[in-house]
Amino acid sequence: MAMNEKQRLLANLPAVDEILKSERGVEWLKTYPRMYVLSSIRDVIDMRRREIIEGLTPDLSIEIMAADIERKIERLSSYSLRPVINATGIIIHTNLGRAVLSEKILENVKRVAEGYSNLEYDLEEGKRGKRYSHIKRVLREVTGTEDALIVNNNAAAVLLCLNTLARAKEAIVSRGELVEIGGSFRIPDVMASSGAILREVGTTNKTHLYDYENAINENTGLILKVHQSNYRIIGFTEDVPIEELVSLGKKHSIPVMFDLGSGCLIDLKPYGIYSEPKVQEIVKAGADLVTFSGDKLLGGPQGGVIVGKKEYIERIQKNPMTRAVRIDKLTLAAFEATLMEYIDEDKAKENIPTLKMLFQKPEHIRERAKKIAMLLRRHIKDAQIEVIQDSSQAGGGSLPEMDFPTYAVSIRPKDLSVNELEERLRKGNPPIITRIKEDSLIIDARAVRNREIESLVKGIRTAL
Ligand SMILES: *Cc1c(COP(=O)(O)O)cnc(C)c1O
Repeated sequence: MAMNEKQRLLANLPAVDEILKSERGVEWLKTYPRMYVLSSIRDVIDMRRREIIEGLTPDLSIEIMAADIERKIERLSSYSLRPVINATGIIIHTNLGRAVLSEKILENVKRVAEGYSNLEYDLEEGKRGKRYSHIKRVLREVTGTEDALIVNNNAAAVLLCLNTLARAKEAIVSRGELVEIGGSFRIPDVMASSGAILREVGTTNKTHLYDYENAINENTGLILKVHQSNYRIIGFTEDVPIEELVSLGKKHSIPVMFDLGSGCLIDLKPYGIYSEPKVQEIVKAGADLVTFSGDKLLGGPQGGVIVGKKEYIERIQKNPMTRAVRIDKLTLAAFEATLMEYIDEDKAKENIPTLKMLFQKPEHIRERAKKIAMLLRRHIKDAQIEVIQDSSQAGGGSLPEMDFPTYAVSIRPKDLSVNELEERLRKGNPPIITRIKEDSLIIDARAVRNREIESLVKGIRTAL
């Protein structure tokens, strides 16, 4: 390109001010932060300038440039944390925010958050109250516990229990239960940070009651049992049931704690699941402390629930560390509403999205998959689309041995690689998270909500 042609194009580049004062510019300033409007205009002008210098002849019309600028402004002004469509089939997906909350639960959060509340105010007495009082009754009713506490997450719950009962003392744990949960939560490391001394007993596959008993000494602070959560040891194995640990603890006056991980409050045996004890059963077995997550199988907000004997809960409540991991009112409101659903187990299965999605009938998933496939086929000609039977996992370190039957839409694009399609969907709006199986893209219908189908289909059409 001739030098003077380049110069002519450069001279034609609009100035920042010119765009800012145009009709679109004025509109943007009304809607978006000035900082984002300015930087987007500058970016687009700079990009055009570079293109001209490289010898290209970019479109310098205000309309085309305005479209580019607006896209940039929108990207800058949108929130980083935003909803995605979960087409992975994994219901308790830790990376995608674990449990989904129902309208009713969110309504309660909104009700409490948009005004003042009796968070720490006793309305009967007209004086300062306790924030934990709001969930004690319902936790007693649904788990049969004496007393209860909820903190930030289950990791914090475990840390607090250990720090309160076993600091500078030994906590006895089976070698088969020294678990690592994702995100660097490892039982031995948590114990170390709590100040408890780990006293491992038994072997990876077998631990006997006498292993625990032999380890007891004058410096034993706690007997800890940990749910294996995300793995199973099968074959020649043995672990000690909680009932026997409780008897042993009683005999030596040592508290017994069970970190249950998932915190399941409903009977899963009718679904063929025997590995997940109900919290109620463990409480009934006499465990002094039981801890579990709020946002795994329980299907509530993030939190760590501690239920158990009053004397220990009271000691934990007095630990200064408890203040550092206390829950806020939004979480508390969501928890109370979630737990209230469990007063009636059948209602819980109907009203708690996590449980509903997990135990929905495969026919229903198939119906949804068929609908998605039908809508896709209507518009998309350059991809092979079919409904397939598949299986997916519960996720969140829960029920690792279970493959839940599911249905999915498999898409095999003609002019695009599956990886490219996966990336486009992930970067779309809303982002759609999928999985790849061989040379197909899999849209698992299990965790796709009915109201998301329309934007899911639209997103896939745009990506293709
Ligand atoms: C998941 C899990 C934790 C950690 O719970 P968070 O709520 O994620 O902090 C601790 N212990 C066990 C056994 C778990 O499964």
